[in-house]
Amino acid sequence: MASGPLLLTPGPLTTSDATRRALLHDYGSRDPAFGALIARVRARVAALLDPTGAFTCVPMQGSGTFAVEAMLGTFVPREGGLLVAVNGAYGDRIATLATRIGRRVVRVEHTEVQPVDPGRIAEALAADPGLSHVAMVYCETTTGLLNPVDTVADVVARAGRRLLVDAMSAFGALPLEGREPIDAVAASSNKCLEGVPGLGFVLARSAALAGCAGRAHSVSLDLHDQWVRLEKDGQFRFTPPTHVLAGLDAALSQHAEEGGVSGRGARYRRNCAVLTAGLDALGFQRLLPDTLQAPIIVTIREPADPKWDFSRFYDTLVERGFAIYPGKLTVAPTFRVGCIGQVHPADMERFVKVVAETIADLGVTDLRGVAAGEV
Ligand SMILES: *Cc1c(COP(=O)(O)O)cnc(C)c1O
Repeated sequence: MASGPLLLTPGPLTTSDATRRALLHDYGSRDPAFGALIARVRARVAALLDPTGAFTCVPMQGSGTFAVEAMLGTFVPREGGLLVAVNGAYGDRIATLATRIGRRVVRVEHTEVQPVDPGRIAEALAADPGLSHVAMVYCETTTGLLNPVDTVADVVARAGRRLLVDAMSAFGALPLEGREPIDAVAASSNKCLEGVPGLGFVLARSAALAGCAGRAHSVSLDLHDQWVRLEKDGQFRFTPPTHVLAGLDAALSQHAEEGGVSGRGARYRRNCAVLTAGLDALGFQRLLPDTLQAPIIVTIREPADPKWDFSRFYDTLVERGFAIYPGKLTVAPTFRVGCIGQVHPADMERFVKVVAETIADLGVTDLRGVAAGEV
C-alpha cells in the first residue's frame, strides 16, 4: 500500500500498487526485455491517438515541459513562426519556451476563463502569412478549462498551417484524434496514464517528423534524432528512465483494462461529478461553468470569510489524508482539486466529508468566493 495522502493534484498523481511494484525491477538499458518494453510502450501510446499508424511515439526523458520544448524546437523551423493561443499558465509557458529558443512568437491572449476562440486564431493567421505553426493547450490545467481543439484544428487546416497540441493533462482520458493538421501532441507519463513522473513523449506525425532533421535548437531535446535512434536499434540515445518506463508499461495495461480512453475518462467524469456536486452543496463557488469544465481539475474560489486560511485548510486536509493544490490564477484567489490518478468516486465522497469537517473546525461559515476583479 502507498503511504502519504491521496493526491488530488494535477500530477504527479496517486499511482496503483501494481504500477509501483513494476518499478522494483532493475532493467539494464541494453537488456532485450527492456528493448521490447520500450517498443511496447511506444506502440500502445501512439495507438491511443491514432490507430492508423500515422503517428510515432517519441519518448523524451524529463517532465512534460521537456517534451513540449522538444516538440516546439523540432517542429517549428527557425525561419518559421508560431502562433500561441494563451488562456492560462501552460499556454503562456509554450510562448516562453518558443521565444527562448529563438522562434518568432505571436500570442493570441484570452482571459483565464475564456476558451480559445477559433475566429481570433483565423484572423491572426490571415494577418501574418509567416506563421507556419499554431500551438495550443487541450485542457488548460491552470483552471481545468477544456479548449476546443477540433474547431481550432479546422481553422488552422483552412489556413494551411500546422497544429501542435499540449495535451499533457488530458491525454489518455479525453478523446483526441490524430487528425489533420495536427503534426504533434505532447503528453507525459504521470498524468492521465497514471505512471510515475520522469518521462514525457511527443506523438509525432511520422511524415512531418521525417522533415525535421537538424532543426532542433538542442541536441538532447532533438526529437528527430531521438526518433531515428529508436527506429534504428530501439534504444534511447542517452540513459533512459528505466524504472519510469517499467511503471508506465504496467500503467498502460491497467489503462487498457479500464476500457482505454473512454473507460478512464468515464471514471474521471464520475470523480468530477461527485466532487463538484459535493462542493456546490457545501456552498463553495467554482471558477468555471460546467460547459467549460474538463473532468481533470476543478478550480474553486477561496471563501471571503475572514476565518478562511488556505494553509490551515491545506495542512488539515493533509493530516486527514488528502493533498490538494494551490491556485495559479491572476484573476482571483483560488485553490484546485484534481480528479485524476488512482482516485475513485468513493474517495471523492470521503474528500467532500473531510472538507465539510475541516471548514467547520476552522469556523468558516461563509463559503462564497472573494469578490473577483474581472471574472
Ligand atoms: C503538467 C502539464 C505540463 C508539464 O508540466 P511538467 O511540470 O513539466 O510535467 C504541461 N502542460 C500542461 C497543460 C500540463 O498540465
